[in-house]
Amino acid sequence: MNILTMLWKNLWGGNRTTLFPARPKVSAGYRGLVEFDPELCTGCAICKFRCTARAIEFKAGKGEFTWSYDPGQCTFCGRCVEGCAEHALKEGHTEHALSQESAPPPIYFRSGELKHAYTVKRKTTVKAAAPQQANAPSPSPPANSPAPGGTQ
Ligand code: SF4
Ligand code: SF4
Repeated sequence: MNILTMLWKNLWGGNRTTLFPARPKVSAGYRGLVEFDPELCTGCAICKFRCTARAIEFKAGKGEFTWSYDPGQCTFCGRCVEGCAEHALKEGHTEHALSQESAPPPIYFRSGELKHAYTVKRKTTVKAAAPQQANAPSPSPPANSPAPGGTQ
């Protein structure tokens, strides 16, 4: 094939590439983007320490905390979801502070572009006082103790 034929084919041959998809294809083992529910989060920060990819950041403040997630850093390993205390403590409970959504991750152009931060007020737990039993019977004295006011 001479050079002119090659040029002709290249000029009029149409597109040889395809557009990158809006969302990339993912492998069969893909677990999905991490989803966060601030209503259920207790601010324990376990997920941050379990995330070796540093996709989760946690900053404690006065009466509140900031939790953030960067899908661009995430390897979708699921360790944060497995370790979320809200998940572990509520066995059989279907709602967790963290879960994973199977939709493919979006494309980003700049580092940190997909990062999302939530500022959450710390929940205060008030311990309920033990109920007073007004009509509860008084404990009976031991069997061999003297009767009140009696002689020996
Ligand atoms: S799925 Fe893995 S990499 Fe992604 S935030 Fe959770 S622990 Fe980090
Ligand atoms: S492990 Fe769960 S409850 Fe603890 S900070 Fe992370 S999302 Fe919140």
